[in-house]
Amino acid sequence: MSSESETSVAAAEPIRVAAAAPRRASVGVDVAGVLVGASAPVVVQSMTNTDTADVAATTRQVAELWRAGSELVRLTVNTAEAAAAVPRIRERLDMMGVGVPLIGDFHYNGHTLLTQEPAAAQALAKYRINPGNVGFGKKKDLQFSTIVELAIRHGKPVRIGANWGSLDQELLARMMDENHERARPWDAARVMREALIRSALDSAARAEEIGLARERIVLSCKVSGVQELIAVYRDLAARSDYALHLGLTEAGIGSKGIVASSAALAVLLQEGIGDTIRISLTPEPQESRTREVIVAQELLQTMGLRAFTPLVTACPGCGRTTSTFFQELAKTVQDHVRARMPEWRIQYDGVENLTLAVMGCVVNGPGESKHANIGISLPGSGEAPSAPVFIDGVKAQTLRGDTIAQDFVAIVEGYVAERYRAKAG
Ligand code: SF4
Repeated sequence: MSSESETSVAAAEPIRVAAAAPRRASVGVDVAGVLVGASAPVVVQSMTNTDTADVAATTRQVAELWRAGSELVRLTVNTAEAAAAVPRIRERLDMMGVGVPLIGDFHYNGHTLLTQEPAAAQALAKYRINPGNVGFGKKKDLQFSTIVELAIRHGKPVRIGANWGSLDQELLARMMDENHERARPWDAARVMREALIRSALDSAARAEEIGLARERIVLSCKVSGVQELIAVYRDLAARSDYALHLGLTEAGIGSKGIVASSAALAVLLQEGIGDTIRISLTPEPQESRTREVIVAQELLQTMGLRAFTPLVTACPGCGRTTSTFFQELAKTVQDHVRARMPEWRIQYDGVENLTLAVMGCVVNGPGESKHANIGISLPGSGEAPSAPVFIDGVKAQTLRGDTIAQDFVAIVEGYVAERYRAKAG
C-alpha cells in the first residue's frame, strides 16, 4: 500500500517548468557584424588580461578567447602604447583569420587616446566608456562628448558602462542630497542603485543629444552583489530599450565567481533581460583566461538559450563507483568535444546540439544514457566489467577492456560524421 506521501505526490499536479521569458525588446546594435540586442541570440564576450601594448601576447590571448567561442573581445586601452598596439593586434588577428570584433575599454584618458591614435579608433569595433571616470569636474562633459563625437566620426557603437566601484561621485552626492529632501528617504543602497542607473541613462541621453544613434548604444550597470545586480537590471530594463550588457563585476575566483555570476545572470536571462554577457572571473594561478568564455557558454547552454558545444552529462559518482575511471572518461570526452568543436563547427551543421552521457553504474546509467544521443554506462562495483553504449536511446554495443575511452571517443567521432550534415564547402 502506498504511503501517504506517495499518494499525495501521485495526485499532485504535474510540475510545470517555466520557459525563459521572451527576450525583452531592445534596440539592436551592430558591432562589426555581431548583432547585440533586438532578436539576436545573447552574445558571449570576454576581456583580455594581457598588457595591450604587448602585441604578441595580446594577439595570442584574443585568438585563444575567440577559439574558445568568445564573440566579442574587450581590451584595456590605457596608454599611448596600448592605443598604438591596437591596429597592429587587429592586423595580426586578421592575418590569422581571427575576425572577432575588438572593444576598447577606456577610463580617464579615452578622449586623448582615441584622438591621438585614429588608427586605434578605426580598428576598434566598439568603445566602452565609464561615465564615472570619463573625466572630472568641468572636463567631464567635454571629454565624454569628445569620445562620443569620435565614435560618430568612425561609425562605432559605444557601451556606456557604469560600475558601482567607480560611480560618478558628483551625481551620487547630488542624489544623496535629494534623498534627504524626501518625506520618506530611501535607504543608501537604493540611492546607490538609482545613481548607477541614472548615470547610465543620463549619459546615454547625452550621447543621443550629441548625435549618437540609439542603435549605437549599449548600456551596463555592474555591481558585485547578486541581489543588487538583479534589482539594478530589472529597473534598467523596465526604464529603457537600449541593448544591455550583463555581468557581475568582480565576481571572484573559482567556484565562487562562477556561482555568483551564474546565480545573478540566470535570474535576469530567465526574465528575458540581457543581450550580451561576460563572466568576470578572476583566473586561478596558471588558469587559462578562456574559462570565462566556457562558463558563459555553459550558462546559456544549460539554460536552453543557446547551444555552443556538446555537453557531457555525468553522474557525480558514489560508493558504487570503484575507481576514478568514469570521472576520467567524462573529462576525456568533454575535453575531446571541446577541442574538436572549432573544426566540427566549420564542418557540420547542428553538431553543437549533440548530447553525451557518461554514467558510473547500472542504477541510473542505462536510463540517463538513453536520454542522450550517445551514452555509456560504466560498470559499478559488483557489476560485470562491461560498458553498454546507447545510441539515440538504443543499446548499440558493449565496450570492454583497456581501450574503453578510445573506443567511446571513436564512436562519438563516427556518430558526428554520420549524423550531422556536412556544411557546403
Ligand atoms: S549512476 Fe550509479 S555511480 Fe553514478 S551516482 Fe548514481 S548510483 Fe552512483
